Amino acid sequence: MDGLAKETCLTCYVQFWITKEHQKHLEETKKVYHCPNGHGQRYTGEADTQKIIRLKQDLKSAKNREERAKRSNYALRGVITKMKKKESARDGKVQSKTV
Ligand SMILES: [Zn+2]
Repeated sequence: MDGLAKETCLTCYVQFWITKEHQKHLEETKKVYHCPNGHGQRYTGEADTQKIIRLKQDLKSAKNREERAKRSNYALRGVITKMKKKESARDGKVQSKTV
């Protein structure tokens, strides 16, 4: 059925239909709704819109971590290059002594 979502009561297992809009609203608001037999229930999980927001935040912080790692890596390469230059200059001195 287009535009409708099947719900199953958690208490009596009766199946009933609500509009997808209403279901989305119930997922987002976590409001209590009732089956045709009057059993109250509500969504407790993360709604799709909340999931999207959370995943966007996760992606943003992952990108920030990647950027920090790149900067740190760049700085370390600079230190290594400096040390190599120092070392080769020292080796140069040692070689000139032995010649
Ligand atoms: Zn019920």
